[in-house]
This record gives sequence, C-alpha cells and structure tokens, in this order.
Amino acid sequence: MNVEILSIGTELLVGSILDTNARFLCQKLAENAINVFYRTTVGDNIERIVKAFEEASERADILITSGGLGPTEDDVTVRALGRFLQEPLVLHKPTYRFIRERLKERRYSMTRLIARQCYLPRSARVMPNKRGTAPALLCEYRRGGCQKWLLVLPGPPRELEPLFTQTALPLLIRCARIKKEHFMIRSVKIAGAAEVDIARKVPHLLKMKPPITVGIYATPGEVELKIMAKTTSHREAKKKVSHIERDIRSRLKKLVYGTDSDTLSSVVGELLKNLGATLSAAESCTGGLLSSVVTQTPGSSRYFLGSIVSYSNHIKTRELGISPALIKKHGAVSDSVASQMAESIRRMFGSDYGIGITGIAGPGGGTTSKPVGLVYIALSGRQGVVCERWQFFGSRQEIRSRAVSTALNRLRILLLDAT
Ligand code: AMP
Ligand code: MG
Repeated sequence: MNVEILSIGTELLVGSILDTNARFLCQKLAENAINVFYRTTVGDNIERIVKAFEEASERADILITSGGLGPTEDDVTVRALGRFLQEPLVLHKPTYRFIRERLKERRYSMTRLIARQCYLPRSARVMPNKRGTAPALLCEYRRGGCQKWLLVLPGPPRELEPLFTQTALPLLIRCARIKKEHFMIRSVKIAGAAEVDIARKVPHLLKMKPPITVGIYATPGEVELKIMAKTTSHREAKKKVSHIERDIRSRLKKLVYGTDSDTLSSVVGELLKNLGATLSAAESCTGGLLSSVVTQTPGSSRYFLGSIVSYSNHIKTRELGISPALIKKHGAVSDSVASQMAESIRRMFGSDYGIGITGIAGPGGGTTSKPVGLVYIALSGRQGVVCERWQFFGSRQEIRSRAVSTALNRLRILLLDAT
C-alpha cells in the first residue's frame, strides 16, 4: 500500500503559507509505517486538480488531499472529485443538518455558498468536521483492475489534524486493510566532525535498504544519523534500532553525544550536574548566543552562573581586566585574548569552568591573516586554560552557531575526561 499527498490551494503556490498539512500527514503516516512516495501541490483550478487526481491514481493506492473545501467560489476540490469519479454531487442531508446546527450555535444562517458544502459525491463516506463545516470524505474507486482510495480533508490545520488522527486514518486503515506495522526512528546525535567524515565511517549503514534504513543530516556544527526501522512488532523494531545504534557508537565513540531529544546544551548540563561543577562565559562574537543556548535547558540555573558579553575592546578591559597592551599586541581576535577571557570570567564568577569566545562573524571585518570565520575558543578549568583556533564557514548566523556548538562540544569532551 502506498500513499500520495496532494495539497490544494493557490496560496501554497504563491508562497503565502507553508504546507504544514503535508508535513503533518507524512509524519502520521510514517508513524504508522505507511509509505508515502510522492507529494504534490496544485492551485484551486478544477482542471488541474482532476489531472492531479488522474496522475496520482496511476502511482498510488491511496491519495490524500487537503484544502479547497471552503464555502467560497475558489474552493473546487469537491467539484473536481465529482468529475474524477464521474459521479454527480447530491445533497447529503446529514451534513446539511450538521452544518445548519453549527451555524445556529454561532448565530449565522445558511447561505447558498455554505449550502454548496453539503453537495457531495453519492458514494463518498462522510466524516463530520467538529471544528469546522466542510466534512472529510473517503471515496473508493477502481483503476487498472485495482481498488483505490481517495481521502479528502479540509485545509485549516486545526480541523485537518484531529479529523485525520481520530477519524480518517482509523477508517482508512480499516477500509483499505492496511497491515499494522511499527515504525521507529532513533536519531543518533554527533558533534565534532563533518558530515562527509561521518559518512565515510559508516558507509555500510547508509547503503541499507528498507525495512531498516539510516539517513545522514547536517546542521551547523552537528550531524545526525537517523535510524528508521519498520517491522511487524514494536519489540523487533526496538531490537533492530538498538543494534544499529551500538554499531554507530562503537565506530564513532566520543563523537556521539546523545540521541533523540538530547542537545549539546542538555548533555553538557547533565555532565556538569553529575560533577557538581559550574560554568560561566565571556562572549564576544557570539553576543550571548552561547548563554542563550545553555539556558534553553530547563534547570540550567543549577550549573550556569552567568556571562559577560564583552563585545567591545573597552568592555573586555573594563569588565574582564584584559590589558589594552595585550589586545594591541595580539588583536581582540587572538589566542591570548580568548584565554584571558575564559580565565577572567572563571575567576570573577567563581565557577569551575569558564568559556571565552572571540572571533570574526562577518560578513565584513576579515583580513588575510584573520579571515571571516576565524574564532578562538578557550576553556578554563582547574587544570589551566586551553585555547583552540577554528576556521568556520558560512553566513554570520552559521559562524556564530558553529562557534557555540563547538564551544559546547569541546567542553563536553573536557568534562567526559574529567568524569
Ligand atoms: P481551504 O480549505 O483551501 O479553503 O483552506 C482554508 C485555510 O486552511 C487556508 O486559508 C489556509 O490558511 C489553511 N490551509 C490550507 N491548506 C493548507 C496547508 N496545506 N497547510 C497549512 N495550512 C493550509
Ligand atoms: Mg483554499
């Protein structure tokens, strides 16, 4: 059984709204181990919608549409459905009564346009929409000797989402006799290596074919290996996923920082809590981003004492006591200044660890010896201070994010070694 999604609405094609319905439907179908092979979008145009139905019926057993069910003239999905099924639209009395009652509650009266929503293909199974007026429809038809299904859902997400999960999906699973399977996803989170380097360490996993596959995804400063398994039992899925996770961990070792909802911030927080240690930061080019990311983790007040955003040289001197001569000699973006920032903040705030970050986030301000993306990250602890020079690439925002991820990841490694 495979499903295809068709999003209907001119507003989607002109980019005025994001297609969150397709995303929602894909997520729910994936959770139920139902394959989705195509997703398309078409405007509110009856000919093009009928054509989209025709094309999808060639490829998929089940087509799920969203949108175009409203009472206005531009909403033509049901008319297109009638044309595609070659069925006249007839008054569906229960829907008429349902809508009339709904309107009464809201002190509206039935109009000709609203009444249009009650004319439906005769063979459709009708699912009332508790949050709106237009019902959802499930139609069965035959193509090329095969039984096919077409599920039509309303556009507003607040109507589509409960209608799909509570009513339409269970009905579809029953009618189309979709086999009950289990789908499990586990994300293995990695930091400290580039996507290509990770891919090179696990080529056998990236080549796997369904029912178990592994995908690789990168964000600034992090990589994720997503293990996806489809099996007949939950236990079996869990067993297979855990087996692959162990394989990944044995190959990548400390590069793996966590799974699923773990973040670098939450993992560093856990390590600090376990050690009973505290942290403070002196930030320049990241402008407080590190502090913001660290404090996104609930309970961070237990280990994060605070930070100083020392953006200007004057503040680096006045607040952190970095000598103007040192800044003059090495420049504000230097190993010496980052190290002093980390040491000063640790001493001033009385924390066990201090982070110092200084760099050039761009897009301007780079030179040949100190190009855009050059960032010094220093970590100060009981054993002294270590500073590393990093060259990041990308936009200003990417450089700042990479600096924060890298600082947190270097701290993670330091804490692991201290544990
Ligand atoms: P419609 O049923 O086409 O009249 O859609 C009604 C409203 O639902 C639209 O104005 C959008 O705000 C919303 N909507 C329609 N399609 C989508 C979609 N694919 N994703 C998110 N919102 C949508
Ligand atoms: Mg519309």
